Amino acid sequence: MELIGQKACQHPTCADVGKLDAGNVVRHASFGTKSGASQRCLCKTCGTTFSSNTGTTYCGLRCSRDEFDQVATMRVDGVSISAIARITGHSRSTITRWLERAAASAARFNDQHLGAFEIEELHADELCTFVGKKTNLTWVFTIIEVTTRLWPTTVRGRRSCRNTELLLTRRFIAARS
Ligand SMILES: [Zn+2]
Repeated sequence: MELIGQKACQHPTCADVGKLDAGNVVRHASFGTKSGASQRCLCKTCGTTFSSNTGTTYCGLRCSRDEFDQVATMRVDGVSISAIARITGHSRSTITRWLERAAASAARFNDQHLGAFEIEELHADELCTFVGKKTNLTWVFTIIEVTTRLWPTTVRGRRSCRNTELLLTRRFIAARS
């Protein structure tokens, strides 16, 4: 059986739940799906099997990983949601859902992998934008570490004291410890 790295068992009662590279996850079976080849993994600790997509951004998607990645890349390159919908043939709401999924995944990745880092100079900024219609205003607060150009934290929401405190404390408590 082939070991699969960077895959963690998600079964809540498993002794190795959530542990990456614990050596407990092996390839169980491969099969074809509408969205391409997929594989089933086996946790040797608890004996459960799960899809290789379980716990990833692609879990439950009804499109290929390539198509999802292409949509996210287009948006990062500044293509509008309407244009992406026209290009791909999907509805605006589908594209929006996928982008929300990609954003949540990126935030999770940041939280899990962005460890301690040197703080030379921080630059905090805010901007006001809208979601959907121009009366639906929201604020985006962000901090940039000037030397590395790292964006350690971003908060979106009302322009409130609570959100400002969240912006300033969320990442830097972890960074200094
Ligand atoms: Zn397990």
